[in-house]
Amino acid sequence: MDHTTLDRGFYLRSVYTALGFYPLRSYDMRFRAPREKEYLSPEAIHTIEHLMAHYLREKLGSRVVSFAPMGCKTGFYLIVKGFTPMKRVMEAVAEVCREQSSLRVMGEIPGLTVEQCGNPELYDVEASNAALKEYGELIEKLLKEE
Ligand SMILES: [Zn+2]
Repeated sequence: MDHTTLDRGFYLRSVYTALGFYPLRSYDMRFRAPREKEYLSPEAIHTIEHLMAHYLREKLGSRVVSFAPMGCKTGFYLIVKGFTPMKRVMEAVAEVCREQSSLRVMGEIPGLTVEQCGNPELYDVEASNAALKEYGELIEKLLKEE
């Protein structure tokens, strides 16, 4: 991937097998184009991490292996097991974006407690709402273009 031309989007990054037989797909959920230099804030990233990790598992179950932020603050990695079609994964992402982009209070963010999180004070409901709304609209546009 050439990061000088990479756009916001949803990309299949790699397909590989774990333990020699378990097929996995790694997706690149790019919220921000690297060259735009409009990075997600750490608070927004952390909020989205909690929301997606929780709600994608409600949509896709144990097919979700991991959801993790990129250190460069432009997006997230999503690893899904099996042969789940990319379209199904994108639909689930769009649904979570739509359903979780109108939060009002911290208490609506799953797992944001001292028992379950390393830094529960790091969150931003408004920035997360805005980023999820924008990204969800992009995914829905990509799904329609198919
Ligand atoms: Zn956390």
